[in-house]
Amino acid sequence: MTPAAALNDADDLLDLHTVTKAYRLKSTQFLAVRDIDLHVKSGEFVCLLGPSGCGKSTLLRIIAGLNAATSGVVYYHGRPLKGVNPYTTIVFQTFALYPWLTVQENVEIALKARGVPADSRTERALKLIDTVGMDGFESAYPRELSGGMRQKVGFARAMAVEPELLCLDEPFSALDVLSAEALRGELMELWLKKKIPTKAILMVTHNIEEAVLMADRIVIMGKDPGHIVTEIPVTLHQPRQRKDIAFQSLVDKVYAAVAGQLKPKEEALGTQPGQPGVTRRLPNSQLSAVAGLLEKLVAEGGRVDLYRMGG
Ligand code: ADP
Ligand code: MG
Repeated sequence: MTPAAALNDADDLLDLHTVTKAYRLKSTQFLAVRDIDLHVKSGEFVCLLGPSGCGKSTLLRIIAGLNAATSGVVYYHGRPLKGVNPYTTIVFQTFALYPWLTVQENVEIALKARGVPADSRTERALKLIDTVGMDGFESAYPRELSGGMRQKVGFARAMAVEPELLCLDEPFSALDVLSAEALRGELMELWLKKKIPTKAILMVTHNIEEAVLMADRIVIMGKDPGHIVTEIPVTLHQPRQRKDIAFQSLVDKVYAAVAGQLKPKEEALGTQPGQPGVTRRLPNSQLSAVAGLLEKLVAEGGRVDLYRMGG
């Protein structure tokens, strides 16, 4: 979408146009990402998925305005971004809490930085701590908490800022499997039930299942230099089940795209053994089941989509 069109679309939050970032290394330059076009609309949960070093964190820092692009433009609400982006917050892999402050004070300080008046900070901090499931730990210090709990406080602090666009940089990858899954569930609950005012989430991950579990759209990146390979929409209903066949086949599709096979190999089906193409055996089945299938097919007028027949 062009920036002019973006201006007219209230749903448009973020629009990257041919963003390139080169890091200066002594006498040479290192191209981290090249010609990135990325678009995020209000209401979307987008995942950036790619191997380590493909420039995912670089892109988040550019979007948050912590780093400037070498060339290209970041539009936010249709306007070119200059300096720090006040509409976003990044949650990092390991959230840096202030070790000398309690859980509550760590959240209150984010509210203070946002200009929330002193008399309402405590109430809001307590509510946020409750929201992320840390009720009862208000006066604990970070060193007394597990990694998962610290990350929850990190989320509470990011949410205190009420960012319009929440950027997450591998927020679950430093956690053990169970804590990661619990925290994913809590984030999805907040997001899907609109318990946070955040309008869109952009999450960086290298975990394919995590992307398929959470995102509405997966943007797949490749490296050397970092670039966008393809995009895969995820239309499965929430909450998603990892064991569902549709979930698994999407994981396979994303895996294939990450592995560089953009299109699964097409199998040419021959009609008879010996003919060119691949002939596949049909599975063994009862004659009565085949007769039943044919009857149902006839009742449907002789032609019906498989998924409707299965339903
Ligand atoms: P990712 O988050 O996908 O792992 P990064 O954005 O951290 O990737 O890094 C992309 C590439 O840019 C990597 O090769 C990394 O070494 C390089 N890089 C990142 N930050 C800097 C920097 N400040 N100076 C020089 N090179 C950097
Ligand atoms: Mg990174």
